[in-house]
Amino acid sequence: MTAKDKIRLTIRGFQTIHELLPGYLPFAAVKAVLEALLPFINIYMSGRIVTAVAQKAGWRELAILALITVVLNLLTTLLLNLMTRVANAKSGNFWYIADLPLDRKIQTMDYEYVEDSQIHAKRSNITLKRRSMGRGLPRLYWWYFNTGIKGLFQLIFSIALVIGAFTAKPVQTGSAWDFVFSPWCTVLLILLFLLSLCWDVYNQAASTRKGNSIIEGFSDVTRVSQYYYGLLIDYKMGKDLKLYQMRDSILREFESFNSAINQMMSKWQGVEAWYQSLSTVNATVISGLIYLYVALKALFGAFGVGSIVTYVGSLTQFKDGFSALVNMLSDVFINAEILQEVFDFIDMPDKKYHGTLPVEKRAFCDGGDNEYEIEFRNVSFRYPGSEAYALRNVSIKFRVGERLAVVGMNGSGKTTFIKLLCRLYDPTEGEILLNGIDIRKYDYNEYLSIFSVVFQDFKLFSFSLGQNVAASVDVDEDRARSCLEKAGFGDRLQSLPKGLGTCLYKDFEEDGVEISGGEAQKIALARALYKNAPFIILDEPTAALDPISEYEVYSKFNDIVGDKTAVYISHRLSSCRFCDNIVVFDNGQLVQRGSHDQLLAEQGGKYHELWYAQAQYYVSDTLK
Ligand code: ADP
Repeated sequence: MTAKDKIRLTIRGFQTIHELLPGYLPFAAVKAVLEALLPFINIYMSGRIVTAVAQKAGWRELAILALITVVLNLLTTLLLNLMTRVANAKSGNFWYIADLPLDRKIQTMDYEYVEDSQIHAKRSNITLKRRSMGRGLPRLYWWYFNTGIKGLFQLIFSIALVIGAFTAKPVQTGSAWDFVFSPWCTVLLILLFLLSLCWDVYNQAASTRKGNSIIEGFSDVTRVSQYYYGLLIDYKMGKDLKLYQMRDSILREFESFNSAINQMMSKWQGVEAWYQSLSTVNATVISGLIYLYVALKALFGAFGVGSIVTYVGSLTQFKDGFSALVNMLSDVFINAEILQEVFDFIDMPDKKYHGTLPVEKRAFCDGGDNEYEIEFRNVSFRYPGSEAYALRNVSIKFRVGERLAVVGMNGSGKTTFIKLLCRLYDPTEGEILLNGIDIRKYDYNEYLSIFSVVFQDFKLFSFSLGQNVAASVDVDEDRARSCLEKAGFGDRLQSLPKGLGTCLYKDFEEDGVEISGGEAQKIALARALYKNAPFIILDEPTAALDPISEYEVYSKFNDIVGDKTAVYISHRLSSCRFCDNIVVFDNGQLVQRGSHDQLLAEQGGKYHELWYAQAQYYVSDTLK
């Protein structure tokens, strides 16, 4: 990575912080300049007062100088206090929002990435460096302002005050120390200063590199430890942990991971401390030389006692500013490498083609003719990185208003069929058409808006019941209530004192309700109905129920979906037998299509085989 790239990344980092914390950066810069200025008020004024005393000035002049010092100090300190409060209020939550650009990316990236563990490893590596070393965006946010800008101005102010020491001429000449007054001595000092700067930059870079490699070596341990910690604090895990008496062993594992992490931290801090000491020695030597220079000049009468006070004070500030600035400069370059990881993640290109065509609003609820037709044309699909086909040569057409059941054994490709239909993945071969147009050509969000899917592993949130149904903070209460009633949750809703305002789970509200698996399914079904999309897909959200209950939920749902297209997925044939249009998947292929009676009549067919294989587990009377 070239220096130009690093500067570009740093500038982009600042732009990102500016977007996250609008108005904070210029404010913090002004505050840092004021912080740098404060000590110089005293340094400069002390010099003036000492000079005045040495020149036997009157008390009036001394009193005015003292008054100016007090007033300047007071004003600057008050202003700084005020600015610090405002700055904290502006940026107090930065630590929590620093990963927001990454989180946004995860929400919008291709689904293929979401299922990719490599992507999650990358993301947690960035977070780890941020949490353990404050690297990435946070470094720009506090380090450069609190240290960098302040250091730069400490340097500027101290050079402005000390410059007189370099130009001052001696009273007497001709001694062996004349060299101190020659321009060569100034050149030598500047060279030594630059040398020391390079040495410090080199050391800082080495320190950060070693720190990074130590932390990266432990990134897997840290991820696992975070998972264990999550288990310990997630009360929903309570039952399983207690019953299987897992808590002690998880705690032991967690502690052993933690002690490994502590070892890593102490190793890293050791490296930091070593390089910090080198930097301190460096800054002390260089400022010692400048002290010596000033002292020798003073000795030969180049300036008076007041200037000595100013120069010595300024030199202390110079030393601090110098070491802060050097630290920051080397840090900019190291931090840019982590910023590169951050922006590589954010810029990860989507592989999917994103079309722009709007989806025609043809649903009845939009005043349309409800004419939607989906066609799979010779579709085959392999998951990324997998050699085996999950779907092979699938061709099928179905129209809005139709009911379709997709059955087949576990692993036969049913969920993959739905994932392709909802464009979570694109087919490897063949195409999927909506009203005759390849679905890739439609605007993705518009296309998604025509589907409501309830997956087997659907999630409800610790929000109010109404918000869960509306999947939004804005709830149309009448619609939410009616959907819950249709989904069979009406009686339970009546029994809840806070109705739709009842919080699910106890994460945030003491009177939040714990809901059963069956109730959760009803809420998830209500959510699908609330979306009012022309296609509703149930991908075995009822798998935890027994086959007869699943049949009841599916067939009841079939009655309430009205004019919508419903697709029912199940590995249990009995659950979908009410449907006139059943497709059978086997080994990624669509092998049969027809009504229950037609399919059962096809002796030797997959449906016939599966039906009789499964029937022995069910109460046969109810399955006929
Ligand atoms: P079903 O829904 O019928 O149980 P799936 O569509 O989930 O079947 O799976 C079909 C095949 O694709 C299976 O062999 C499964 O192992 C494989 N598969 C499913 N998801 C993934 C994935 N994310 N990556 C790789 N292979 C997958």
